[in-house]
Amino acid sequence: MKFHVLTLFPDMVENGLHTSIIGRGIEKGLLSVETVNIRDFSENKHNRVDDYPYGGGAGMVMQAGPVCKACRHVEEKIGKKARVLYMTPQGRVFSQAMAEELAKEEDLIFLCGHYEGIDERALEQVVTDEVSIGDYVLTGGELPAMVMIDSIARLLPGVLHNADSTGSESHQNDRLEYPQYTRPELFEGKAVPPVLLSGHHANIEKWRAQQSLKRTWERRPDLLSKTELTEEERLFVEKLEKGLAKEETS
Ligand code: SAM
Repeated sequence: MKFHVLTLFPDMVENGLHTSIIGRGIEKGLLSVETVNIRDFSENKHNRVDDYPYGGGAGMVMQAGPVCKACRHVEEKIGKKARVLYMTPQGRVFSQAMAEELAKEEDLIFLCGHYEGIDERALEQVVTDEVSIGDYVLTGGELPAMVMIDSIARLLPGVLHNADSTGSESHQNDRLEYPQYTRPELFEGKAVPPVLLSGHHANIEKWRAQQSLKRTWERRPDLLSKTELTEEERLFVEKLEKGLAKEETS
């Protein structure tokens, strides 16, 4: 899969994504991240890409010309139209479901704004999706693009060592993941839950499923209301509500 990032700060994106698991995925040729500096498409002898907002007000606005040219440059290079994702706090909020949907694309173009944002006409001309990473405002679209690329790239075959890792993770099927433990068995007086040392796979699975449900019920009840519970899960949630499930889940 090829990620193309249109940005005024290519180093930030390159440095952030060429390390750790995603960096290894790039080295193995499972994905690529190419940055395009919007400033290279400046139409101004001083290399500027921003100007004052019409109508007045604070800050600067990125001009439409360089943004559209940078985007069309990528589309010409890849020889087709691709989804162009504008990072903006005004967009649809990014989710695991969206990451899964986007992981099916061959090419994705990320457009990172800065300052007060980008001239609306450029967005109308080239953008297919407006995406936010949450209800807060950052200084630029680079971190949102990196967040999205990281979460999409780890879903690509071969990027994670163990393909099962994505199977039971938080936000898969609207659940949070169960708690995880590793050695030592006893840490500062706290023991690993005995069921995990039992070697009894069915009991371990049951314990994990209940823990996952308990966590979601405690921390993110909004997620549970999105899915249908099995009869067994419904009874377990009833016990949680009555405070009777302590024994089973501890
Ligand atoms: N004036 C804009 C507004 O009120 O909607 C905010 C501009 S913000 C300071 C500069 C750039 O950061 C945006 O163009 C966008 O690319 C990026 N950005 C900021 N917050 C973001 C968020 N929550 N999600 C995605 N991108 C964001």
